[in-house]
Amino acid sequence: MATIDRKRLASLFAREQKKFVDERPKSKALFERAGKSLLGGVPMNWMAKWAGAFPPFVREAQGAHFFDVDGHRYIDFCLGDTGAMTGHSPAATVSAVQQQLGRGTALMLPSEDAIWVGEELQKRFSLPYWQFTLSATDANRFSIRLARQITDRPKILVFNWCYHGTVDESFITLQDGVAKSRRGNVGPPVDPAVTTKVVEFNDLAALEQALVPGDVACILAEPALTNVGIVHPEPGYHAALRHLTRETGTLLIIDETHTICAGPGGYTRAENLDPDFLVFGKPIAGGIPGAAYGFTAEVAKRIEARQNLEDCDTGGIGGTLAGNALSLAAMRATLQKVLTKDAFDRMMPVAERWASGVQKVIADFGLPWHVTRLGCRAEYLFSATAARNGTEAHDAMDFELERFMHLYAMNRGILLTPFHNMALMSPVTANDDVDQHTKVFRDAVRELVS
Ligand code: PMP
Repeated sequence: MATIDRKRLASLFAREQKKFVDERPKSKALFERAGKSLLGGVPMNWMAKWAGAFPPFVREAQGAHFFDVDGHRYIDFCLGDTGAMTGHSPAATVSAVQQQLGRGTALMLPSEDAIWVGEELQKRFSLPYWQFTLSATDANRFSIRLARQITDRPKILVFNWCYHGTVDESFITLQDGVAKSRRGNVGPPVDPAVTTKVVEFNDLAALEQALVPGDVACILAEPALTNVGIVHPEPGYHAALRHLTRETGTLLIIDETHTICAGPGGYTRAENLDPDFLVFGKPIAGGIPGAAYGFTAEVAKRIEARQNLEDCDTGGIGGTLAGNALSLAAMRATLQKVLTKDAFDRMMPVAERWASGVQKVIADFGLPWHVTRLGCRAEYLFSATAARNGTEAHDAMDFELERFMHLYAMNRGILLTPFHNMALMSPVTANDDVDQHTKVFRDAVRELVS
C-alpha cells in the first residue's frame, strides 16, 4: 500500500499556497480590506477555514460553476454545502423570486405558495403537516422543542460526530466512552451532557440502553451521517431503530438537509423510513434562505393539545421572517421545476461517474483510501474501508492531507466541500466537470506518492 511522506506533503502544500496567493491578487486585496471591518476578514467565522490563505472572493456564480474576482473559473462541487444543490441561480427560482420581490416579501401573513409547498411536501415525504423556518438549524431546534413538550421528557439523543447546524443540544461527542461537550463548542448555554445522550451510529445495543430509561424525548438523526464523511446505516439498522423508538415512546426526527441527495423524497422516501418529524433545509428554496419541518397527524394532534394562542409568539418557536413570501415563492418554483425527479435521474449517474473515477485512481496508486456515495453526493475518505460509525469516520480524517487535496484542486479550478472531501452534483453538473475532477485528483495523487 502506498504511504504519504509528510515532508513531501508539507513542501507540496507550501508550493500550492504560494501559487494560490500569487494568482489571486484581487481576492488578497479584498481580504485585507475585509479584515478592517469583518472579524477575521470574513462575514462568517467558518469562511476562514478554506484551504487557501484566504477565501477566493466570488464575482459570479451560474449553474455548476463560479468565477472569482481574479477571473478564475471553478467547477463547484461544494454548491454552498448543499444550499445550492440546485445549481446556482436556477432560472425558475430566479424568475419566481424576481416576481415576488416586486410584490412584498416580509408580510407576516400567509401566501398561497405556502399551501402549494405544504401539499408538495406531503406528497414527497408522506407527512401531513408542515411548518417553515429560515434555516435547517431552526427547523431542528423547533422539532426538538416540540418533541420535548409533547413527550414531557427532558433529553434528546444524537449520534456521535453528527452535525445538525447550531443546535445547542447537539454539540456533544463521546470521549473515551463518556459524553462530553464537543471540542470547540462556543459558550454553551448549558453543558450538553445535561440535555443530550450520544451513541455511535449503527450501535443498536447502545441505543437500546440509552432509550430504555424513557427520558429521551426524541432522536435527532441524519439517516446516513454526512458531516463526518458519509456513514451508511447497516442493513436492518433503521427498522430496528424505529422499533426501539416506538417501544420506548421516543420520537424520531429525521434530518434530510443533506440526505435529500438520495432522491426527491430524500432518504426517507428512497428507503421507506417512517419518522415522526422530518427536516428539510438548505436547497429547498434554490439558495434563498428557507427550511421546512413536517410531522405526523399523531404529532400534530399532540402539539395542538398543548398550544396556547396567547403565548404562541413568544414560546421559543418563532422567527419574524420565517415563512416569508419570498422564501415560499422560491420553494414553490424550486420544488416544482428544479429539484424534480428528472433532475435527480440526471444527477445520480454523474455522481456514480465521479465516485468510480476517484476509486480507480485510488486503486491505480494502491492508496489505503476509499470512496462512498449517497445518491448525488460522493466523497473520498483516508481509510481503506468504509466507516461504520462517527468515530471510525472521524479517525480517518487527516487535516493536513485534506487541506492539500482541496488547495491543489482549487488551484486547478475545482471547489470541493470543505472540512471533508465531498462532492455534490447539481442538475447541471456535467460529465466533463466530473472528468476534470478525476484528472486533477489523479495529478494530485501522482505528486503525493511518486
Ligand atoms: N442539518 C444538517 C444535516 C446539516 O448538515 C446542516 C448544516 N451543514 C444543518 C442541518 C444546518 O443547516 P443551516 O446551517 O443552514 O441551518
